[in-house]
Amino acid sequence: MRFAVFLDIDGVLNTRTTVESTPEGHTGIDDARVDILAKVIKKYGSADIVLTSDWKDLRPGSDDFSYLVSKLEKQGLKLAGKTTDHWHDRGEGIRNYLELHPEIEDFVILDDNKFDFQDYQELWERLLITYGIERARFASQTPQVETIIFLDYIKAFSAHQRTVRSV
Ligand SMILES: [Mg+2]
Repeated sequence: MRFAVFLDIDGVLNTRTTVESTPEGHTGIDDARVDILAKVIKKYGSADIVLTSDWKDLRPGSDDFSYLVSKLEKQGLKLAGKTTDHWHDRGEGIRNYLELHPEIEDFVILDDNKFDFQDYQELWERLLITYGIERARFASQTPQVETIIFLDYIKAFSAHQRTVRSV
């Protein structure tokens, strides 16, 4: 099954307590969180990673965008594409992307904000609200089954990481 992960960055691969900075001085990306994402996707099988974050508006040649790409690459991940939208209509951007990519059969959305997702039931039921990827929860009370599986994997690998660290 062709599966996509619509990925926000801030609040997913970092949090307000993240210490690392980007080359241009913004909040950086935590390797431990990319590691969880990479392991979840590997366990899942495969996934197209589609960038929904405001990071998508960075110039592809800029230091910060290169930083993002290299952070993902280090864990074997790469971006398949990005959505196009304006500030508060990320859901609409995802809808448009899905229309242009009918090969995507199912997907999950990782984001720390709700934006307009609730306007679209098929998005809302696939949204995982994060405070850092390791603290993800369902947005909907009736999440889709693939979203349930994805969150199970996040929990499993987050728990594993905690175990490793506490040794
Ligand atoms: Mg965010």
